[in-house]
Amino acid sequence: AGTLYVVATPIGNLNDMTVRAVNVLKQVDVIASEDTRHLLSRRTGRMLKHFDIKTPQISHHEHNRQGSVSEIVNMARAGRSIAIVSDAGTPAISDPGTEVVRACLQEGIRVEPIPGACAAVAAVSISGMAKEGFCFGGFIPAKGSMRQQFVERVVSSPSPMVLYEAPHRLLATLEDLCAHCPDRDVIVARELTKIHEEVFAGKLREALSHFQKRSPRGEFTLVIEGNASPASSREDDSLAARVLRSFISH
Ligand code: SAM
Repeated sequence: AGTLYVVATPIGNLNDMTVRAVNVLKQVDVIASEDTRHLLSRRTGRMLKHFDIKTPQISHHEHNRQGSVSEIVNMARAGRSIAIVSDAGTPAISDPGTEVVRACLQEGIRVEPIPGACAAVAAVSISGMAKEGFCFGGFIPAKGSMRQQFVERVVSSPSPMVLYEAPHRLLATLEDLCAHCPDRDVIVARELTKIHEEVFAGKLREALSHFQKRSPRGEFTLVIEGNASPASSREDDSLAARVLRSFISH
């Protein structure tokens, strides 16, 4: 059988592409690129052109026929090698790729990582918060009770939490987090590795007022300090603390 390569690509700065990623993308039979509105990703197209990679592409999507999970698995079973890439960063991290990885593992097909850029890891590396580990939360649900529960989970987490956020939702998210713990440390990493890179480090309430003054643009990753001592702060009202209290009182 062939191999599925899960290939990380840059999150902005093309110089972050690894030599190995270029070699693998040149050598495989086909590159499965992220399907953005039924088109091959333009970002991937630019990246491939930059590195003079001429390997045929299929657009990877969970549902369409060409490039579907089963098509990729069948190609691998037939001995072909496939590289999966996402728009930017590491595939299958808040990005498509999980299903195809899982399907290949189930079929006993070799799955190999080609590691490289990942916005979450890049932000954590400059947070100074993750000596003892961190928790990756991905994107916050946009609304409803799922969002509320998620926020509770973030503010009660003993480990630092890493979140991805869209620019038009950043203020709402900072407001919701501030409602629980305005004095908690946060890193707001914007446009990492790009021309307009900005790293805000401070309290949640300071981050909120900073980004209220200028409308947030670009790509954002947040690292929120862990809740070190839930019992000794007003964060005592977190879901976890409430559950614990009701547990103790029964
Ligand atoms: N799989 C990707 C990775 O490994 O970084 C993440 C994909 S996710 C669909 C895209 C989100 O990642 C963006 O909305 C933003 O929250 C974050 N992100 C991507 N590039 C970034 C950058 N250059 N700076 C800060 N955050 C970034």
